Amino acid sequence: MSNFFEERVLSVHHWTDTLFSFTTTRDPAFRFKNGQFVMIGIEVEGRPLLRAYSIVSPNYADTLEFFSIKVQNGPLTSRLQHLKVGDTLLVGKKPTGTLVLDNLKDGKNLYLFSTGTGLAPFMATIRDPETYDRFEKVVLVHGVRTVAELAYEDLITNQLPTDELVGEMVAPALIYYPTVTREAFKTQGRIPDLISSGQLFTDIGLPSLDPARDRAMLCGNPQLLIDVPAQLKALGYIEGNTGVPGDYVIEKAFVEK
Ligand SMILES: Cc1cc2nc3c(=O)[nH]c(=O)nc-3n(C[C@H](O)[C@H](O)[C@H](O)COP(=O)(O)OP(=O)(O)OC[C@H]3O[C@@H](n4cnc5c(N)ncnc54)[C@H](O)[C@@H]3O)c2cc1C
Repeated sequence: MSNFFEERVLSVHHWTDTLFSFTTTRDPAFRFKNGQFVMIGIEVEGRPLLRAYSIVSPNYADTLEFFSIKVQNGPLTSRLQHLKVGDTLLVGKKPTGTLVLDNLKDGKNLYLFSTGTGLAPFMATIRDPETYDRFEKVVLVHGVRTVAELAYEDLITNQLPTDELVGEMVAPALIYYPTVTREAFKTQGRIPDLISSGQLFTDIGLPSLDPARDRAMLCGNPQLLIDVPAQLKALGYIEGNTGVPGDYVIEKAFVEK
């Protein structure tokens, strides 16, 4: 039996010259938890070429969605960026990952810290009804270099609060906090700086991070995953993992080679 589902590409959207997303069919036998990632790819010269990808679409959706970088000389994405409607996408049968609600202790507020394509897993988390059953406020922080890289901004701010299924839960609870580092924008700066200066908390009207009350998930570039966990640990936060729920969990958005 094959290790992959063969899905069909249904749509492709190019956000910028370095970012795109696409949707595919979903085999009914493919099950996953919101926040997980899976190996996906294409066949190249008769062999599967695969990379880890977080699943953007929530686990109750009929289709799958992924949010991707375009690395010009990257083995997979130099090809994947040319994906067209009707093409075949290989999707691994074993989704996994630490960014799942089960790995967090209960709390009042949930912070989702992301940079770049690290937003992907949280697009599923913010559409999961369980997120709002467990947390009063859900703060989605997305750090990017340029304003154009704020993918999914319209979906998050305009479509989700009126969504048929989760809109009523999202509207009073979800706080979206985009921040840009290399262009003028209403919120500027790196996430660790916005935490240490207290600017983030002033802007959203919540008290600063406290392990007694606030939980966090992180997905982003290597530096974010060094800096923010150091800040959390200094506050007494304990990392969670599969089977051992904690105050925060992390996942690499990509591996530097
Ligand atoms: C757990 C996990 C989840 C991932 N989820 C996603 C996802 O949802 N979307 C996604 O686009 N990628 C994701 N990645 C990265 C992905 O697996 C590939 O690295 C990426 O698709 C590029 O593949 P490639 O073969 O073209 O180049 P690779 O040889 O894999 O990468 C080349 C170089 O490009 C840079 N790079 C790779 N991916 C990124 C990225 N996402 N953002 C910025 N720089 C990057 C790194 O410097 C890397 O060394 C994830 C990685 C991991 C470990």
